[in-house]
Amino acid sequence: MGPLYVRVHPRDNVAIIVNPEGLPSGTEFPDGLRLKESIPHAHKVALHEIGTAEPIVRYGQNIGFANRPIPAGAWVREEMLDLPAAPVLDALPLATAVPPRLPELPGYTFEGYPNADGTVGTRNILGITTTVQCVAPTVEHAVKRIRSEILPHFPGVDDVVAITHSYGCGVAIDAPGATIPIRTLRNIVRNPNFGAAPLVVSLGCEKLQPSRLLPDKRLPSASVSELPVLEDEPYVIRLQDSELHGFGDMVAAIMRFAQKRLKELDGRRRVQRPASDLVVGLQCGGSDAFSGVTCNPALGYAADLLVRTGATVMFSEVTEVRDAVHLLTPRAVDEKVARDLIREMRWYDEYLAGGLADRSANPTPGNKRGGLSNVVEKALGSIVKAGSSALMAVAGHGERVTAKGLVFAATPASDFICGTQQLTSMNMHVFTTGEGSPYGLALVPVVKVSSRTALAERWHDLIDVDAGRIATGDASIESVGWEIFHLILDVASGRKRTWAEKWGLHNALSPFNPGPVT
Ligand code: CA
Repeated sequence: MGPLYVRVHPRDNVAIIVNPEGLPSGTEFPDGLRLKESIPHAHKVALHEIGTAEPIVRYGQNIGFANRPIPAGAWVREEMLDLPAAPVLDALPLATAVPPRLPELPGYTFEGYPNADGTVGTRNILGITTTVQCVAPTVEHAVKRIRSEILPHFPGVDDVVAITHSYGCGVAIDAPGATIPIRTLRNIVRNPNFGAAPLVVSLGCEKLQPSRLLPDKRLPSASVSELPVLEDEPYVIRLQDSELHGFGDMVAAIMRFAQKRLKELDGRRRVQRPASDLVVGLQCGGSDAFSGVTCNPALGYAADLLVRTGATVMFSEVTEVRDAVHLLTPRAVDEKVARDLIREMRWYDEYLAGGLADRSANPTPGNKRGGLSNVVEKALGSIVKAGSSALMAVAGHGERVTAKGLVFAATPASDFICGTQQLTSMNMHVFTTGEGSPYGLALVPVVKVSSRTALAERWHDLIDVDAGRIATGDASIESVGWEIFHLILDVASGRKRTWAEKWGLHNALSPFNPGPVT
């Protein structure tokens, strides 16, 4: 490969080095640009001279101000940029440039498991809910035994999952912040991939009582000696119940109820459903400077295809939207949706301020190694995965998304917390990465897309789609977008499994708890 850089927008005065080994000082590009110094792969080169206090422009947007003169051909490094102020939330344009409705894309379907509440599963999973971390190891022990001793008798069921988490007790359960983890857990119990009524394991003395987790359900305290009659009501096993004599009894009770649920689930069969029944959660993790050029635009293209079928596409990660929010509020379908988006930005600004942090706390050492100078550059590359359609709705942290089309579901940017919160609604997940993460979830399939070919080659048994081919010109944004779209339909239908599924990679559920711990 000859020397190659990629410039995203005609206004940009910096570009990204494509050559995987980086380029040495003195390298001359076909357009006459000559490197003043060696520049690593994915890092930025100044395309012409940039004076002190002049904006550094990428994606056609100001990502910072030069704090020294930067000659053409120089390596534009993190410390040369002063962070611009975040967009002022009171002065944002509201629904001023609503994109026209994208043309419909009929005829695309997948095979899924319809649920009574109208949602459709992409997997047929028995979830065992826990109200508190205290019971987690016991439930995990039981699940290990259920997997090896009972599940093989029910080939129609994909898996048994312990829905364990760090919440449930030792917290100020009535504090305003507690609303978020509680509704997150409540909605995860309703994930479309759990076809049966909830099976809940409680300790007994915890603050998050089963009636608080599932307030709209009738909760029979399941007798350990008898199986409940009602199939559509949750079962609750309380480990402190006097009927349970020791650990063996607890495990046996969980296994017995699980067996009954597995029998119900085993009778379910996939049926053809329109692609509009998909609820696809998008996020990025371990991003690099290519993320905004390759994997995220390709995912944005796939997001538009999904929206055109009538599906729901969720994007999230407040701190990676905050610096690009001025590009999103004009796209809101109406002023209310724009204000809802601003509300989520403001809430997070205040949350960060309360912890004496600001948005500069977001980028990681890996982001910076990957050529991302600051959170503005990261955000501009991140929101590209939201495609080009109108923003139809905004959901607060842990709220269930019911709208169709493009939806912003507020979450922190942390991969495992964002994934946890998106599980309140999604039946498919797509994760883009530059530096790489072997991320996966137990509840929904995770399709992983790499920003660079080098990562896809090194992690050949973890990355499902290589979007790096876009930077080298071996593929287009459109072709990789279609590839992601078709893979989503295949994986949703169970025809294909993702690498994370093959290896059983299940990141722990991590509900976001902004409330006090006692
Ligand atoms: Ca993330």
